[in-house]
Amino acid sequence: MFSYRHAFHAGSHADILKHLVMIHLVQYLQEKPGALTIIDTHAGAGIYSLIDGFAAVSKEADQGIYRLSQFAKSNAVSSGIANYLECILSENTDNDITIYPGSPFILARLLRTQDRLKLFELHPKEIDILRHNISQLKQAKQVDIYAEDSFARLKGLVPPPSRRGLVLIDPSYEDKQDYRYLDNAIEEALHRFATGCYAIWYPCLSRRESASLPDHMKKIAASHKRSWLQVELRVENAPKERRLQASGMFIINPPWTLEKQLAESLPMLIMALAQGDGAKYLLKSFEA
Ligand code: SAM
Repeated sequence: MFSYRHAFHAGSHADILKHLVMIHLVQYLQEKPGALTIIDTHAGAGIYSLIDGFAAVSKEADQGIYRLSQFAKSNAVSSGIANYLECILSENTDNDITIYPGSPFILARLLRTQDRLKLFELHPKEIDILRHNISQLKQAKQVDIYAEDSFARLKGLVPPPSRRGLVLIDPSYEDKQDYRYLDNAIEEALHRFATGCYAIWYPCLSRRESASLPDHMKKIAASHKRSWLQVELRVENAPKERRLQASGMFIINPPWTLEKQLAESLPMLIMALAQGDGAKYLLKSFEA
């Protein structure tokens, strides 16, 4: 436990998929003026340097955000990709990407004055960095930070007072138990707040718990009569899983606009990020 540091993966293909979906969800939910509560259950450090520290060692951004931003310089991109790139570029100067904002920063910057953001982080070092990073933002007063286990706390935070909420669940799955904790947390949260929008990130790995995660989510959504959308992006299909080659997002109560936006964006993400012939995407949905 606590060997995971998100800086190693900042700006990777998995971050691109997750943050692209997340931005669409926030912007859709903000089309109505009512206050929105966003809960980011696994926050990380908030924002990352890509030119020093862990990210400079792993260089995952080279095959992620750097390839996508290069692609966008010479190709027309979907509005979803354009919005996403705008969020990333706004943390940088002169179109030169040296900083990658994590979910807490992207979300905080998107807050309107009536919205609130709740961040959870358990790592003893990451929580201090996160608190410091968020304190630099003008939106800091709209953000609550908890050094607590979000799987245990989520049910106590839903429904939010305005009954308009987005829950981003982005575990590291470092602890095998995270798969079970996720099932329980979603089950309990849907029981209390069936109309909330839940966005769950997952790695596509051959290990059993990972491969069965989408089916678990589908079963839970069906038992609460909820619609869902599943999206996966595979950038590589090499025989050994030395590094993460694919990831997915499972969204419960997705906005009707998401599927269309992803259908436009995914082929472009494949063109921009593919490492070999095995790159592909999956996009499935079910309306309850
Ligand atoms: N959401 C972040 C982003 O997109 O920028 C990345 C988060 S990273 C994948 C997962 C984080 O969750 C790690 O920093 C880890 O320390 C933290 N974490 C792990 N288990 C947790 C738990 N039960 N509650 C809260 N945070 C947890």
